[in-house]
Amino acid sequence: MSARLAVIGNPIAHSRSPALHQRFGELTGIALSYEKLLGEMETVEAQVAAFFAQGGLGMNVTLPFKERLYHACTHLSTYAQAAKAVNTLWLDDAGQLCGDNTDGRGLCEALLHAHGLHLKDKRVLLIGAGGAAKGVALPLCEQGIAHLSIANRSFEKAQALCTTLSAYACQALPLSALSSSEQTFDIVINATDTGLSNTPLPLDASLIHAQTFAYEMVYGKPTPFLEWAKAHQLAYADGYSMLIGQARLSFAQWFGVMPPVEHTAFTLTDSNQPE
Ligand code: NDP
Repeated sequence: MSARLAVIGNPIAHSRSPALHQRFGELTGIALSYEKLLGEMETVEAQVAAFFAQGGLGMNVTLPFKERLYHACTHLSTYAQAAKAVNTLWLDDAGQLCGDNTDGRGLCEALLHAHGLHLKDKRVLLIGAGGAAKGVALPLCEQGIAHLSIANRSFEKAQALCTTLSAYACQALPLSALSSSEQTFDIVINATDTGLSNTPLPLDASLIHAQTFAYEMVYGKPTPFLEWAKAHQLAYADGYSMLIGQARLSFAQWFGVMPPVEHTAFTLTDSNQPE
């Protein structure tokens, strides 16, 4: 019998999750079906409950329900608690709803496997303090990076995120600090949604050195951040590899098997790999 999976969001037609998980099923020999569910604002919790009551094995959650369904879970992983958002749901043996957030570990996986970057001792600049940034901040720190700087338009949100990372070397910056910097970064991650609105960020060349890697979380389109990276001859990538990384970890949660890294999938992204 094939395992039943789904992704819930609104809108949902664009989701690439079904194709990714079908491919993982083929690669691991696990029979599965994966559907797209259009989440309803009034009834999304009931939709999730009905999916599992009808035998669903696992569900991914995408915008705008990641924070809301966090509150529907009885059990939450450390990463879901840190992000206050879930992207992966399943039931435990007692039939209680469990939630994880695999976005951040998915990014770390992608940086290592798709882009060959070891995070240990790296100086990282994370731009943004919204849901995506909250999801990646703790997993980045856990990789043994030397330092995390978090810059955000609303400075107080960057400060609040840094406060949750008191065990690590973390510094909050106003966005204006990116216009001129006395320190350079090894990795610059754009976790804002400015790529969707084509809004440039105030990024100065003093932030980077010749080996800096630039990562844009938005995927599938040119963005001002990617253009900036190209203009400065940086190695760069868009967020498609992160999408694959978080999906691999969701699959591992449901089936106990990590899908093999499939390098062909990563080549679909907009990227310029380090030498
Ligand atoms: P949120 O709405 O939670 O946060 C948006 C962030 O962008 C905030 O930090 C906000 O700053 C900042 N921002 C918005 N407009 C501007 C601007 N004009 N100038 C500077 N900063 C701005 O969104 P998410 O964090 O959930 O998502 C961010 C992006 O990450 C999305 O585009 C999403 O597609 C992508 N993403 C990609 C994933 C992947 O797998 N590749 C996974 C998850 C997300 P402020 O706080 O001041 O409002």
